Amino acid sequence: MRDKLEELLASSQRICLLGHTRPDGDCLGSTLGWKNYLKNRYPEKEVQVYLMEAHEKFSYLPGFSDIRHDVPKESYDLALICDCGAYERLGEFGSLAKSAKNCYVVDHHVTSNGEDFPFHTILPDASSTCEVSFDLMEEEFFDKAVATCIYTGLIHDTGVFKYNCTSQHTMEIAGKCIARGIPFSYIIDDSFYMKSVDQQKMTGKVLQDAKLYCEDRILASSLSLKDMRSFNLEQKDLDMVVSILRETRDVDGVIFLYEVGNQLYKVSLRSNNNAFDVSQVAAFFSGGGHKMAAGCSLKGSPEQILEKLFGEMRKQLDAEDFQSNKRCRE
Ligand code: 5GP
Ligand code: MN
Repeated sequence: MRDKLEELLASSQRICLLGHTRPDGDCLGSTLGWKNYLKNRYPEKEVQVYLMEAHEKFSYLPGFSDIRHDVPKESYDLALICDCGAYERLGEFGSLAKSAKNCYVVDHHVTSNGEDFPFHTILPDASSTCEVSFDLMEEEFFDKAVATCIYTGLIHDTGVFKYNCTSQHTMEIAGKCIARGIPFSYIIDDSFYMKSVDQQKMTGKVLQDAKLYCEDRILASSLSLKDMRSFNLEQKDLDMVVSILRETRDVDGVIFLYEVGNQLYKVSLRSNNNAFDVSQVAAFFSGGGHKMAAGCSLKGSPEQILEKLFGEMRKQLDAEDFQSNKRCRE
């Protein structure tokens, strides 16, 4: 498939880069990484990134200010889609992918099956789309700007190299990024750890409201739209909450629900200690993600949504591999 991507890149004059809605560090890092790479590799081509609702904490990424948020009238020769394997996850830019002469997906989501996009490189064992992207790039064109973007994706999807998706290869790529002179310490602090006072206070409320369910195996909490607004926050300001909830000893899974419309909640699922595969729970509700981190959207009150999720989670929690995993840890 690498040859196919090279052929498509070489033969396309107008290229757009797309990713999923509410782009995270890996989605922004990979789309902007490709933009900066293509500027070096093919300076004569027209390359444009389209993404909705990118968080300003990523504004240090080279090319961030050139991201377009509007759906253009013109169509492209190639849509290079990063960190997203399905039309519906592209939000308003799905039409841009549909109108492009060709599409190519670079992704690592286990739930991306390539059904929507026949040309793809989807590697579920890779830590991040940035890792997959690096492996598709020629190192000669991998400069400091590209490295800043790729490193951002690596740290966000590995939780700063702590999740078990981190491999020797991930660290080798990180080393190559550092060798390009990137401000890695600043990138980690500013894009991953630092929060506003309002974000800290909101996180405090979510932690305070958290409750244990399913024989104390699952910790869950939620945030209504009204509460989110009372802290002057938007959806894109909530991305770290579930990771903080997850830092809880002796729970096998964490659920964070946040309201995005009238009784419509975005669901963030996390698994601890490899206890179960949350991507299957999310996929059951038409969402997706990875074994340890996945998401979907559901309608109802938080209590009703939790009941639905527990129904699916129990199937996994009761499974033999969960039991043996639990025994292992005892
Ligand atoms: P988060 O909980 O941080 O929003 O998402 C965790 C993981 O699940 C990410 O890799 C994200 O791309 C994926 N994910 C979250 N929500 C959805 C969804 O509605 N559909 C799909 N296909 N993937 C999702
Ligand atoms: Mn990713």
